[in-house]
Amino acid sequence: MYDDNNIFAKIIKKEIPCNSVYEDENVLFFNDINPQAKIHILGIPKEKVRNLSEFITICGEEKVFNFFEKTIEVVNSFNLTDSGYRLITNEGKDSNQEVPHFHIHILGGENLGGLNSIP
Ligand code: AMP
Repeated sequence: MYDDNNIFAKIIKKEIPCNSVYEDENVLFFNDINPQAKIHILGIPKEKVRNLSEFITICGEEKVFNFFEKTIEVVNSFNLTDSGYRLITNEGKDSNQEVPHFHIHILGGENLGGLNSIP
């Protein structure tokens, strides 16, 4: 069950501040508080979903497409298209997902190494 008091839910409700890079009525993108690359942005839909599986099954095509379309707009606004970037989403215990609200990590701004550099 979705936890209304998770930290990203509080950020959406403006109970906790964030360093926003893009926001509209459906999505929010903000800087990660503990960046793992020169550019480390988190992207979240405002729906109450815990992970990608729930986002896809509960929210449906239009909202999912809109979220990833906005992701590409943010990627473009940081000029990451030519240099490249990495998207990560964690889901469940083996991934060590910390915050139980679906989010993607957008990492870039430098060479990120190979996938074997991800612990
Ligand atoms: P995950 O392990 O995929 O759940 O990642 C959660 C991410 O949220 C981590 O990279 C944290 O650094 C980040 N984070 C936690 N609290 C905040 C916050 N208040 N503002 C921005 N990022 C946060």
